Amino acid sequence: MADRPSARALPDELPQEEAVTRYRRHAEIPGWHQDALTEATAVVIGVGALGTETARLLAQAGVGRLVLCDPDDVDESNLSRGALFTPADVGRPKAEAAAAALTALVPGLRAEARHAELSAGVGLAELRSADLVLSCLDSIAARVSLTRRCTLVGAGLLDAGTHPWGGEVRHYVPGGACFGCGLTPAERETADDPWSCARPVAAASHGASAPVSALTAAWLTTTALRVLFGLPEPAGITRVEPVSGTAYRLAAERDPDCPLHERIAPGSVSRTPVAAGGRVGELLALVAADEIALGWNPFGTPLPTTIRLRDAAPDATLASLRVAPRELIPVVVPGDPARTRYLELAAEGEGNR
Ligand SMILES: [Zn+2]
Repeated sequence: MADRPSARALPDELPQEEAVTRYRRHAEIPGWHQDALTEATAVVIGVGALGTETARLLAQAGVGRLVLCDPDDVDESNLSRGALFTPADVGRPKAEAAAAALTALVPGLRAEARHAELSAGVGLAELRSADLVLSCLDSIAARVSLTRRCTLVGAGLLDAGTHPWGGEVRHYVPGGACFGCGLTPAERETADDPWSCARPVAAASHGASAPVSALTAAWLTTTALRVLFGLPEPAGITRVEPVSGTAYRLAAERDPDCPLHERIAPGSVSRTPVAAGGRVGELLALVAADEIALGWNPFGTPLPTTIRLRDAAPDATLASLRVAPRELIPVVVPGDPARTRYLELAAEGEGNR
């Protein structure tokens, strides 16, 4: 028998009776656990046609906290495809417009907008502790970057993509195949990490209509909910092809030569009381004289040419250097890779202990 929503796990902002009534029909679905959704955090990377529809479905299903990350602003062309945008949103950051629309749609939802590229918007500790990371990106390069960051902290990843008349949902679990395993070496080099020696980023070369995005998002969200419920959901790729009236699964093979499998040893991470809103000097006070603390994104004026935090003004905030919330800051000793360690930034307003 499916669980009924309980008072314990309902968001404080939502009156209990209203919440129980809202999710009453879910309780009739075998395997549904409303509490698991209420307590869950899902990170949605990319808030375009796929991302908005996915976020909407997750929010209305009852996922309690959504982190929405996208560096772009809403433009006119998004209005025919984005489920959450109105003409009044044109020019506004996509993540902020989507978060506002979702909060209006689902009172009690905690929707956090990150108007930034992935490596500046969502820290590695946030990816590690999320219940689910969903990739709704539109380029191979961005997916390679997200895959690398998820793998660094052992986070699973649900990725979706569309083509003009169909879509694909890819379920990657820690230790299994990753998105990069299915790429050629040349494709893997197209990471859009600002610090990488990347080839020019390949932009999406085609679009998909709103119905195709919605279809793919619905498939993605169905998979996401089953993962959150702990129901059987095999890793691999599902192709959804409306033209032929089919959907089918493909195995994803782990490539032992794939270079995206590097993992940060959990024992090399120390928590700090410094948050991304904190000062560079506060963080550097935790670093020994022969150690160098690094950002993941280059900074500097007039050109961003360094990632060494000691090159920044001590009173600059880490966030102003595009350091993400709850980031893991690499600390290296030149010539001694065995001493590489990571400082975990605290959540804003909550010093780590
Ligand atoms: Zn791989």
